[in-house]
Amino acid sequence: MLARCLRWNPTVRFLRESLERAGCPVGDEFFAARRCDEQAGGGFMPGEGVVVCANHVASQDEVNVVVAHELVHALDHCRAANLAWPDLQHHACSEIRAANLSGACHMHREFATRGSDFAFRNGHPCVRRKAQLSVAMNPFCTQPTPATADGSSSNSNASGDSSSSSSSSSSSSSTACMARARGAVDAVWDVCYRDTTPFDRIP
Ligand SMILES: [Zn+2]
Repeated sequence: MLARCLRWNPTVRFLRESLERAGCPVGDEFFAARRCDEQAGGGFMPGEGVVVCANHVASQDEVNVVVAHELVHALDHCRAANLAWPDLQHHACSEIRAANLSGACHMHREFATRGSDFAFRNGHPCVRRKAQLSVAMNPFCTQPTPATADGSSSNSNASGDSSSSSSSSSSSSSTACMARARGAVDAVWDVCYRDTTPFDRIP
């Protein structure tokens, strides 16, 4: 399914072309499918590549969405020299874009487009929810330490991404983390939701 996605999915192909134009080409060896212990559909590890969690994706469509999502992170990592993944607002910006541009919220967008402009004026609920869940998985959210401004972190799993069935613990620390994640998404929403680079509009 991964090979098929890389070869045929137009969003994924365009993102890879954009990475190449941005000076960060990624070959097929950049992608790997493996079993994941964490509740995630996939992840992007700067300097390593994109992982698709084979045990958490059930269809070709899900693989396509996961790969597109992680490639948006790879592009953001490439184009923003000062992007600091431990900084929840930086992470939130990339998660908003990844949720928005990967097709993960297509059905919702269809509804919003054909319905009214309510969803747009009030922010896209699906994108917002997915971005919050992903930011809440940032290790610097669950164990908050001051994020360094230069982002020189050895954080190896910069953007583990929650799958739809994320298991949520009800401990107070995870509640506090969700609140921080929500705050980070809110803080950068307007700018990052509108930023559809490298697409002219939401694909
Ligand atoms: Zn993500």
